[in-house]
Amino acid sequence: MHPDLQHLIHLQALDNTAERLRRRIEEIPLAQQSLDARLAQRTASADAVKQRIAANQAARRDIDKDLSVVQTRLSKFKNQLMEVKTNKEYQAMQKEMAHAEEEVSAHETRMLERMEEGDGLAAELKTAEAALKTEQAVVAGERTKLEAERATDQHQLETTLAERARVVSQLSPDALATFQRIAHGRKGLAMAEARDGLCVVCHVRLRPQAFNEVRRNDQLIQCDSCSRILYYVPVPTPATPS
Ligand SMILES: [Zn+2]
Repeated sequence: MHPDLQHLIHLQALDNTAERLRRRIEEIPLAQQSLDARLAQRTASADAVKQRIAANQAARRDIDKDLSVVQTRLSKFKNQLMEVKTNKEYQAMQKEMAHAEEEVSAHETRMLERMEEGDGLAAELKTAEAALKTEQAVVAGERTKLEAERATDQHQLETTLAERARVVSQLSPDALATFQRIAHGRKGLAMAEARDGLCVVCHVRLRPQAFNEVRRNDQLIQCDSCSRILYYVPVPTPATPS
């Protein structure tokens, strides 16, 4: 095989690897953001329950106040009851007191409802906080994994680029210039295998004479259609059974 062709095939493989690594490195911040979002969602869920608990507690304090107002009124009535002079006054007072007792009972019912709600919310908070804790552990693990991936990818990228520089130094300037020019206009893909008479990248059939020349792998031949540099990978001869 022509040495330039061999180096160019190698160069293309290294460029593909470098591109894949760069893309993976670029995706890491996005993956980290999605981890942040997952955690934020769980935190928000727990916070929402806490807010409902605060509202429940405020409502209970209000009921307590209402209750003590009525109870004060009730005890005042009880004192006044001793001092009433007439039966009519006594009956009116009794009526007021009965009314106040009803109010007390209504507030107590409301309080019981709120207390039950409070128990439910406490259980909900416990579940939400456990879920948050689990998510925090999962996210921390994922973060460590991403950091390790980034370090590995970064290291591999540096190794690949060093190898690329070594390959470039062995190429003839013309071959390198041709490769760079095609790669620039073809999303980094300057090389194309020719197989079964076709350019495997653009799928255009080569002229039979051109395909024969490509099969020899002894010169740089570009695809008539996509301009990529063509090379041929010999089909391995099937092993003869011994
Ligand atoms: Zn082509």
